[in-house]
Amino acid sequence: MTQNLTRQETSARDRAAWQRHGATDVAGLDIGSLPSAWTGHPDRRALLFPAESDHWFTHGELADRSARTASWLRRNGLRPGARVLLCGHNGSSLVLAYLALLSAGATVVLANPAYTTAELVHLITDSQAEWAFAAQPATDRIGSLGLRVVSLDEPLPEAARSTREPDAREPALLAYTSGTTGAPKGVPLTHGNLLSSIRAAMLAWRWSEDDVLVHSLPLSHQHGLGGVHATLLAGSSAVILPDFDAAKLTEAMHTQHATVLFAVPAIYERLLSNAPQALTTPTLRLAVSGSAPLGPELAERLARVMGTPPLERYGSTESGLDVSNPIDGPRLPGTVGLPLPGVELRIADESGEDAPEGEILLRGPQVFSGYWNRAAATRDAFHPGGWFRTGDLGRLDPETGYLRITGRKKELIITGGLNVYPREVEMALEQHPDVAEAAVAGLPSQRWGEQVTAWVVATGAADFDDILAHCRKLLAPYKCPKQVFVVDSLPRNGMGKLRRSALVPPQREPR
Ligand code: AMP
Repeated sequence: MTQNLTRQETSARDRAAWQRHGATDVAGLDIGSLPSAWTGHPDRRALLFPAESDHWFTHGELADRSARTASWLRRNGLRPGARVLLCGHNGSSLVLAYLALLSAGATVVLANPAYTTAELVHLITDSQAEWAFAAQPATDRIGSLGLRVVSLDEPLPEAARSTREPDAREPALLAYTSGTTGAPKGVPLTHGNLLSSIRAAMLAWRWSEDDVLVHSLPLSHQHGLGGVHATLLAGSSAVILPDFDAAKLTEAMHTQHATVLFAVPAIYERLLSNAPQALTTPTLRLAVSGSAPLGPELAERLARVMGTPPLERYGSTESGLDVSNPIDGPRLPGTVGLPLPGVELRIADESGEDAPEGEILLRGPQVFSGYWNRAAATRDAFHPGGWFRTGDLGRLDPETGYLRITGRKKELIITGGLNVYPREVEMALEQHPDVAEAAVAGLPSQRWGEQVTAWVVATGAADFDDILAHCRKLLAPYKCPKQVFVVDSLPRNGMGKLRRSALVPPQREPR
């Protein structure tokens, strides 16, 4: 599948959106390779890992050390294009290994360090990885699988520098989709895909070399890695924390004069209740929210503290960063904004024809070309013309052109023959004063086929009759939950994304 993209085909609506993001020219967003595009002044500060030491890696030091490890890899037989598992916690050796692998022309297979042996075995066999850079306990878990393993828990091996530049069309990453449903599939992303994705966002968000990102998202996921890409491309600086800890994030934001924060809604929720001072860091100019829907209520509560809601954006593993609210506003809660520079977007029905409400289709240089070794899944993932089918449902606001995500195709509940989108019901529930968070799924029912069921985290004495009465005011009766379970927390993955497959009735009685 190729992105046969000619400028004449681009809709006027998309071009207008790119202009709203400040882009007059989108040519060249995907040119080059990641290592060739790192631009920072060699003596400027690049990365700090406060959990390890107070040493600031400069841009020059990162380039030099990673090039030395890349040379060592090549001398030890690593072929360009070889898949290499990278499985570690946020830290300097993870970043240095990642940069070295990119310089050596390897394809990095990102693995979450919390993966079980079975999950790692799936990634290794599916990707046919030959090498691994791993930290404990993953090193032990993969010890018997016949890979060449380099430990991230010790200083990385280095050899005298020699360079080889990868090409824009070579795969840099093999990212596995989060696997909240089904077995994870490999998503090859080229240097060009990754560059165009982050460059479009940097342009729209006016990223400059003076920016300071304070970052606690896992670098084993693209959302986290994007922060490192932006920092190295802009020549700016970033403070990388091992994981999310409200107090440590707040301290780092204040002492390091953070200008940018990347977070997911679950992190914003926790900051709001435990550490609102993080959100009022005087130097903070850009707080971005993504990976999961930012509920309008949470956005409003955040706006009360921050003066403005976080800048919500939308993207996926397969398509990178695609849509964002414009930095100069308006920021419309409940929407993800306008297509980023170079991104084409349309809404289509099942057959791929334009429709007012339906599946979100994306096209552009940041969109992948097909799943790793899965021809059938790749065929299903594209409509003719290179339009990627996101599986997300949405509509464009007729007045503003902003995208509203209304749900996911696979999550659709069919109850008594009628379609219910869980997100719509969740948003209604979250407007109830006693409901902090809500998740909705269909449970099997003899009478309805599936019945709308809610799991809620309550802040007060939420009572089923009261919640139902509230829903009835906002939703047609068939959309209202037939059962409501009050739970302590919702099942989420490491990125704060709801794990719908884990929504099961709790042992105790429903309220
Ligand atoms: P992943 O491939 O793990 O990055 O997940 C991508 C999916 O996350 C998208 O297809 C959406 O379903 C969801 N997602 C990402 N950003 C948003 C957002 N701002 N609002 C709603 N859903 C989002």
